[in-house]
Amino acid sequence: MKFGMDYGGTNIKAGVFDNNGETVNFVEEKLSALSSQGNLLENLIAHSKKVIGKNKIESGGFAIKGLINTETGKVENDIGAGQMLAGINLKKAFSEALGFPFYVDNDARAYAWGEYKFGAGVGSKAMVCMTLGTGLGCSLVVDDKPYCGSDSSGGLLGGHISIDRNGPDCTCGQKGCLELYCSATALTEKVKLAHPVLNDSAEALPAFFEKVKLGDKEFTRTFNEFIDNLSVGIVNVIHAYGPDVVVLGGGVLNSADIILPPLTELVHKRAWTFPKGKVQIRKSLLGNNAAAIGIAFLEN
Ligand SMILES: [Zn+2]
Repeated sequence: MKFGMDYGGTNIKAGVFDNNGETVNFVEEKLSALSSQGNLLENLIAHSKKVIGKNKIESGGFAIKGLINTETGKVENDIGAGQMLAGINLKKAFSEALGFPFYVDNDARAYAWGEYKFGAGVGSKAMVCMTLGTGLGCSLVVDDKPYCGSDSSGGLLGGHISIDRNGPDCTCGQKGCLELYCSATALTEKVKLAHPVLNDSAEALPAFFEKVKLGDKEFTRTFNEFIDNLSVGIVNVIHAYGPDVVVLGGGVLNSADIILPPLTELVHKRAWTFPKGKVQIRKSLLGNNAAAIGIAFLEN
């Protein structure tokens, strides 16, 4: 059996999985519950022990945002909530405390590996996975291996492919990055700006997609712009990496029924593939659990 922990900015997801990727135990806990008192690392380890219980674990993993040195298991370029664990050798700390080999990697790479092994990417030769969340995560599996490039950041920065060099400034230093248009955060902002009626809605995106489904003209215009921007980003990654499957994840994809048909049509119109229209665009199958399962099965 394997253990995986997905450390997110809001929630910590931890699970025990059998060797077929089936969930034996899965617990989602608020980060604030583990970080508000005492030492965060110690609390994460104690929480892991609780989730594992009496299960016999062969190996485990920890998925976190940012750029990770997978050799040392240290978070090198930490973002947001990951800052609380910056500089700590997580691999050493977890493997010593839990008594089995431990692996640490980026959460988007873990998500992609989960989808490739047990989800929407099973059987693909080259798979790109993009998650539309707070940011826009990207990762890639090629020939049965996660693609890491020369320094383990390879394939992770698809959210920072520019789709408009005259676009708004991005925190990364570029302009017009895909993430500024198509992350769930960016889409929510754009939707609220274009449709003030949704300003006070806590569930602005589901309400937005409902309006689009009903054929509202104004909402459909905003929707088409989103699809257009996302298709440019996807065509760019297709041209860069030549995948046969692109998996899309994140809460936005709860509306996959209205997103995927026009998106696929636009991508097939614009992408050079052989034969034309070859790439399949699929919704993530593991969703919320993908990164925890993926990191449990990622190994050095
Ligand atoms: Zn950027």
